[in-house]
Amino acid sequence: MNQWETLLEGTGYAYFTLDRDWRFTHLNKQAEYFETTTKAEVLGKKIWEAFPRIVETPFYQQYQKVFTTKQPVIFEEFDQGIWFEVRVFPIDSGGLAVYYRDITERKQFDERKDEFIRLASHELKTPITTLRLYAELLQEQIKDPELIDHAKKILNQASQLDELVSELLDLSRIQIGKLNFEMEDFDFVSFARETVETIAKASPTHRIQWVSDLRRASVRGSKARLAQIINNLLSNAQKYSPERADIIVRLTRERRQILLSVQDFGIGIPLAFRPKVFDRFYQVPHNNGDTFPGLGIGLHVSKLIANKHGGDITLHSRPGQGSTFTLTLPLSKKVDA
Ligand code: ADP
Repeated sequence: MNQWETLLEGTGYAYFTLDRDWRFTHLNKQAEYFETTTKAEVLGKKIWEAFPRIVETPFYQQYQKVFTTKQPVIFEEFDQGIWFEVRVFPIDSGGLAVYYRDITERKQFDERKDEFIRLASHELKTPITTLRLYAELLQEQIKDPELIDHAKKILNQASQLDELVSELLDLSRIQIGKLNFEMEDFDFVSFARETVETIAKASPTHRIQWVSDLRRASVRGSKARLAQIINNLLSNAQKYSPERADIIVRLTRERRQILLSVQDFGIGIPLAFRPKVFDRFYQVPHNNGDTFPGLGIGLHVSKLIANKHGGDITLHSRPGQGSTFTLTLPLSKKVDA
């Protein structure tokens, strides 16, 4: 084995390369193990000569994509009882390098975790709603100011708990395709302004400013779900800018898209963590000991909701100076902005 082959055996990945005509040019030990073949048997053969079944699989489609686009692709795929993580890279000779490994154990663990979250959030929802209801009743019925204050505190904590559990429930529902999307055509400008103004009025800590000279812009979407995104971005903007009171919400239009950006002047997000903030359960670590409440779900769910509308959420940030999250949505056919 030469130095490179030793290195490739040590990565823990199965590995093979194809030339521009789909012929095997290399195969390491793990790949021999997964494919139940030997290097000698496949070298020089085209991939479908060695494995005829491959052309019907999503693996083959992804390899084709890399051949055409010359852009690397990373994906997870289930095949014959095993979950694989696959990384495909174009190589200079015009061929492909494919790394893959068995991630079945992690997938099964994730499935059990998701199932637990689904059950737990479902079971917690009813008692929390009851708790809130009775705390509200108490607050209305009692006269003693001290007791009213106690009831307020119960209500406040129950509401926070309710929000956390709702986030978990949304996550479970969106994963199994059960989150409700009641789609309609509506004017996004007045909808977004009203949603932002309601949140602004209720904010005891921040000045939330609305900036837009758009009059109307028709969007097709679920108002409840889009309000959820706006809520999430604004509550993050407040949470992660504890020392700066200003938040600016801008609504603009660019070609066939509407852009809603929420800018804060808070702690910001270092470059290395930016791609991860949309991962579920991800929270940026703070080495100065700061902690912020939350579960790391809001942005993940918000991005999935935006994607469901054919839109996206992007992020610009400068550590120590603030962050801007931008929601883009396609304008619907009935445009009159
Ligand atoms: P959380 O409930 O933890 O706020 P989110 O999914 O909403 O979860 O956000 C994920 C992570 O992204 C947060 O934990 C935080 O580290 C980071 N983040 C989100 N919004 C901001 C912001 N406006 N400024 C700085 N960091 C942010």
